[in-house]
Amino acid sequence: MASPSARPVPRPGVMEIEAYVPGKSRAPDGVKLHKLSSNETPFGASPRVQEAIREVAGHLELYPDGQSSALRQAIAEVHGVNPARILCGNGSDELLGLLAQGFLQPGDEAIHTEHGFLVYDIYIRAAGGVPMVAKERDERADVDAILALVTERTRIVFLANPNNPTGTYLPFDEVRRLHAGLPGNVLLVLDAAYAEYVRRNDYAAGLELVSENENVVMTRTFSKIHGLAALRVGWMLGPEGVIAALDRIRGPFNLNAMAIAAGTAAIRDRQHVERSIAHNTEWLERLTAGLEALELRVTPSVGNFLLVHFPEAAGRTAADADAFLTERGFILRRVAGYGFPNALRMTVGTAEANEGVLAALTEFTAR
Ligand SMILES: *Cc1c(COP(=O)(O)O)cnc(C)c1O
Repeated sequence: MASPSARPVPRPGVMEIEAYVPGKSRAPDGVKLHKLSSNETPFGASPRVQEAIREVAGHLELYPDGQSSALRQAIAEVHGVNPARILCGNGSDELLGLLAQGFLQPGDEAIHTEHGFLVYDIYIRAAGGVPMVAKERDERADVDAILALVTERTRIVFLANPNNPTGTYLPFDEVRRLHAGLPGNVLLVLDAAYAEYVRRNDYAAGLELVSENENVVMTRTFSKIHGLAALRVGWMLGPEGVIAALDRIRGPFNLNAMAIAAGTAAIRDRQHVERSIAHNTEWLERLTAGLEALELRVTPSVGNFLLVHFPEAAGRTAADADAFLTERGFILRRVAGYGFPNALRMTVGTAEANEGVLAALTEFTAR
């Protein structure tokens, strides 16, 4: 007989997981809020999305299409890929979790990089896997360091390209070199959440590498440039074997009907995407120059956000800057959990928000 004080106990490792802390979204009363803490787009979703979800709203009694067919078709058309190789997820987070669940056994190892997206660590541990952390070089993924960690127990390598929160990227020849160094039974997961923003000739999100190999997948999201973070829409391009496995373990209706309709409308609005890219490209440059003029170090970013480093001096630290900015309604992201105790991550916002942050930090650094 179990003792009366017995209680359910989670699987080993579950309680060692650090729960994910989302970006803050509160400003003091009476101050206009500029949320620049979660890499959301300042443009919102395409106007076509409103129309699409209004239609769905009239039929909430109906189960959604469990195959997300319309959405997969739209993605396939826009990206010129086979819809059978696409799997949609309740955000790309769900897909990252399913990959860990489907391909890691307890004790298996999965590699991510030093300042990589924190969600990988969570899903690796949740599947009973062991996270292996590859050192970065100059705040960028280091292919040799990743390859040096590969053992017989390695099953997955998670690479955010570009990475969050650094904004740095691996040129495609480096991604190819990484893939070439991995055994065929190791799955390379290219998380390309910010791919649309990248304006570099030597960057590729990975569609080609996926189509040429059995052990590469690419995940994408509608949460960033498409402005659908609230609805949770992501997708993955993968080889038949990986898609078939995840199709068996996912929820049968993992995307809700509004998410499917919204994603389908959003990805077809290329003008909306182009406008967001143009704004981002312009402001990445202006913000980087403006922050550097204040003698703040900025990690070179190709995403829709910047990692800004503050001095150690009392009154000048990232924590001090965060408090100063928050008082004025500018909510940036603390990134101590990513190994940057003295930096803040700032999402590229509206012109008003960006100028506001530059003005506030000018005042802050002059104190
Ligand atoms: C924002 C982000 C995602 C997107 O997650 P969703 O679940 O699709 O909202 C994925 N990977 C990285 C690195 C991100 O920063």
